[in-house]
Amino acid sequence: MILRYSDPEAAQRWCEERRSAGASLGFVPTMGALHAGHMALVERAVSENDAVCVSVFVNPLQFEDAGDLARYPVDFEGDCDKLGQAGCAMAFTGSLATFFPGELEADGSFPARLLKDPGPGAAGLEGEGRPGHFAGVATIVARLFELVCPARAYFGRKDFQQTLVVRHVAGALGYPEIRVVPTVREAGGLALSSRNAQLGAAEREQALALPRALETACGAWREGLRTAPELGRALRAVLEREGLECGGLEIGYAAVRDPERWTAQDPAGELERAVAVVAARVGGVRLLDNALLHVADPMGES
Ligand code: AMP
Repeated sequence: MILRYSDPEAAQRWCEERRSAGASLGFVPTMGALHAGHMALVERAVSENDAVCVSVFVNPLQFEDAGDLARYPVDFEGDCDKLGQAGCAMAFTGSLATFFPGELEADGSFPARLLKDPGPGAAGLEGEGRPGHFAGVATIVARLFELVCPARAYFGRKDFQQTLVVRHVAGALGYPEIRVVPTVREAGGLALSSRNAQLGAAEREQALALPRALETACGAWREGLRTAPELGRALRAVLEREGLECGGLEIGYAAVRDPERWTAQDPAGELERAVAVVAARVGGVRLLDNALLHVADPMGES
């Protein structure tokens, strides 16, 4: 049986009790509509901690598009059932008003002075296309970490820049340890995402251009290409070709970065490590994906 709280303070008390009983707490922050990608994080957390809790909160601070926020699927009860079956001990949700009691402005808006610095990982690409997004992520993640005080927190590599931001937040607080879990994909290679539910059958086919582009960049790396502009061109060529063929794919960005020394622009010179990152709209649905080019199995487990 999983405990469910819609009051973050009650969740905080539960976490305090578990920690004072000596339990190591694993924590997985989510926006709900849970799929097998989220569950991979939960399963890893369950295997590495005495007790696991999950937050389910569609954070308005990280949405710059009100329509996108309004369309976001919500199913707290269904999510809790899945989490209970996976061995998660507690799930909680809340609202901006209950996560930040007494802090919202009279008109309900969030005070800018409470926004956290997302750090250098927020520069460029996703951060440039979605101004304020990573400050919104950093702000809620810091608050969730304060409430839960976990030993370890789990994030998906699928949101690569987000992993840099949460590492920055955890570094500033001094806790928790951040563990990054590989991207879970459908059989055809499409990364699982709560937004995939909004894709029709034809769009789902078009969306395969993202993993195909990443596979091409992986192949280029294996053949010895090492500079960001060259690898980025290989990546973009696939998206442009497939976009022209199907007409329904709009590239947000397609670029290659050093995953440890993140830069807004292409890094100079030959790379020892590289992450290829892509964002594209397919039929109005914004999809993200990435691959670490230098590892043995870039699209998979390693
Ligand atoms: P979200 O609910 O979209 O905020 O995602 C919650 C967490 O699940 C984030 O750390 C995501 O990176 C992670 N996640 C989402 N999709 C996947 C996936 N396909 N594979 C692995 N992790 C994922």
